[in-house]
Amino acid sequence: MDTLLRTHNRLELLRPLHGLAERHGLAPSQKLQQQDCGVPHRKPRQKWLTKGLARASGNALLELVPETKKENLEFDIPLYDPLKGLTLDLAVVGGGPAGLAVAQQVSEAGLSVCSIDPSPKLIWPNNYGVWVDEFEAMDLLDCLDATWPGAVVYVDELKKKLLGRPYARVDRKQLKSKMMQKCVSNGVRFHPAKVVKVIHEESKSLLICNDGVTIQATVVLDATGFSRCLVQYDKPYNPGYQVAYGILAEVEEHPFDLDKMVFMDWRDSHLKDGTELKERNSRIPTFLYAMPFSSTRIFLEETSLVARPGLQMEDIQERMVARLRHLGIKVKSIEEDERCVIPMGGPLPVLPQRVVGIGGTAGMVHPSTGYMVARTLAMAPIVASSIVQFLGSDHGLSGNEMSAEVWKNLWPIERRRQREFFCFGMDILLKLDLQGTRRFFDAFFDLEPHYWHGFLSSRLLLPQLVFFGLSLFSHASNTSRLEIMAKGTLPLVKMINNLLREKN
Ligand SMILES: Cc1cc2nc3c(=O)[nH]c(=O)nc-3n(C[C@H](O)[C@H](O)[C@H](O)COP(=O)(O)OP(=O)(O)OC[C@H]3O[C@@H](n4cnc5c(N)ncnc54)[C@H](O)[C@@H]3O)c2cc1C
Repeated sequence: MDTLLRTHNRLELLRPLHGLAERHGLAPSQKLQQQDCGVPHRKPRQKWLTKGLARASGNALLELVPETKKENLEFDIPLYDPLKGLTLDLAVVGGGPAGLAVAQQVSEAGLSVCSIDPSPKLIWPNNYGVWVDEFEAMDLLDCLDATWPGAVVYVDELKKKLLGRPYARVDRKQLKSKMMQKCVSNGVRFHPAKVVKVIHEESKSLLICNDGVTIQATVVLDATGFSRCLVQYDKPYNPGYQVAYGILAEVEEHPFDLDKMVFMDWRDSHLKDGTELKERNSRIPTFLYAMPFSSTRIFLEETSLVARPGLQMEDIQERMVARLRHLGIKVKSIEEDERCVIPMGGPLPVLPQRVVGIGGTAGMVHPSTGYMVARTLAMAPIVASSIVQFLGSDHGLSGNEMSAEVWKNLWPIERRRQREFFCFGMDILLKLDLQGTRRFFDAFFDLEPHYWHGFLSSRLLLPQLVFFGLSLFSHASNTSRLEIMAKGTLPLVKMINNLLREKN
C-alpha cells in the first residue's frame, strides 16, 4: 500500500520518493553531466482529506481540520530577468530555511544570487520547535514566538522528568521575513518556478525551470529539502521515517502546565489492555509532543520517533484520538494541521559532486531525532563562506573542484563520524519496543545536561560521543544494558565498519 506523504501544501506518495532515490542511487552520479529533477506524483488534497481522514477513525476531531491556509509575505520581491542572460555567481534551488540562509549570506559578500522556488513569498508551513540556546547562539531570539522555561518527559504513568532547558516555537513568518528582507537588500533576485533539470559545463551550470526559463550560474546549491531534487546519491536510500500528525487547536481545557512544553509523553494508559491498538503501540510506540500556548490553545502532535518502514498516518491519528479522549482534551476547533514525514539517517549524498547541497537534501537531519532547522541555520555560514571564498578568489578552480571544496567544509571527517554515531543511535531506537524506549529515555535524560544537550543539538563530536555512550550505559538499568548489548551489537559493528571506511 502506498504511504501518503503530505507536508502541508505538498501531497505526495512515498513510493515516487523512493523511486526518485533509486533513480539517484543507480545513476553514475559523478560522471553524469545532466540531471533531471523528478516531479513527484500529486493528488488533490481535499479529496484525500475527506476520504482518508474519515476512514482513519470516523472521529469528529478530524473533521474539524480546516482547508490549508496559504499565507504569503506582504512585500515586493525583485524578480530575476531571464532576458539579461547573465551568469550568476550562485543559484539556490529551494527557498526553505536552508536555501534562504545561504542566499542571504552569499549575497551579503556582494556576489550575485538567484533564489528559485515555486512560491518564494509563501510562509513556511512547518511548526518548528527548537531549544532556545540554539537560536540564542545565532542571535535569532527575535524569531521565536513562544518560549517555555522548561520541558517535561513522561516516561510512563509513574515517572516524569523535568528538563530545565528552555524550548521555543519558531516564529516562521518573522524568520522568513527577516531573511527575505536581507536577501532583497543584498540584491538577491527571485524566480518563482521549479527546477526540472541541470546541465553542467566546465565553468558554469544551466538550470532548466518548469516555465521554460534557463538560469546560468557558476555554483548551484540544491536546498530542496527532502525532495532531494538535484543532489545525487549512489547508495540505496534506506532511511528510517519520523511520522507525526499535529494540530494547533482551540480546546475546552487540557491538563498540561503552561510553563513546560511536553517534549515526549510515552504514557499508554489511553490504550485499553488486550486491544490491537495497544499491541501495535507496544511494538512501535508513538508519543505526544505538545506546546501549550494557553489554557485553551495548544499544539498537539502524536509522533513516531523513527520506524522503518514509517508508520501509516491513519495509525498515528487513531492513537492521537484515543490519547486526547483519555486526557479529557475536547477540541473545539483546529487552526492548522501538520502531517510530518521526515526521512532520517540513510546514506550521505555522493561526496563530492558538482551540485552543492544543504539542509534536507544534504543528509543534515539529525538521524536520531529528526531535528534539523537550528543545525542547518548554524551550518549555512560555513557553506556560504566557502562559496564566497572560492568564487571571490583567483584559485583558477574548475566548477567540480570548487564544489568539492564546499562539500569538504560541509561534511568534514569529524562531522561524518558524528553522523555515523547518530545513525547508530537511530539503529538502536528502531529496534526498541515501548518498554525499551522508555528505559532508554529514562537513562538518557538522567545524563549530565552537557551530554544530552550536546547530543540533541549535534554539539558532541566522536571522542565526546564515546564518553556520552559510556555514560548512558552506566546510567542505564541492567535490563536496558542487556538490551543495548543485544540490539546494539550489529549497529555497532556497522558503525565501526563505516567509520573505518571514512577517509579524510
Ligand atoms: C512537518 C514538519 C515539521 C518539522 N518540524 C521540525 C522542528 O520542529 N524542528 C526541526 O529542527 N526540524 C523540523 N523539521 C525538519 C526540518 O527542519 C524541515 O523539514 C525543514 O523545513 C528543512 O529545511 P530545508 O530548507 O532543507 O527544506 P524545506 O523547508 O523543505 O524547503 C525546500 C524548498 O524547496 C522547494 N523546492 C522543492 N523542489 C524544488 C524544485 N525542483 N525547484 C525549486 N524549488 C523546489 C520547496 O518548495 C521548498 O520551499 C520538520 C519537518 C517537517 C516536514
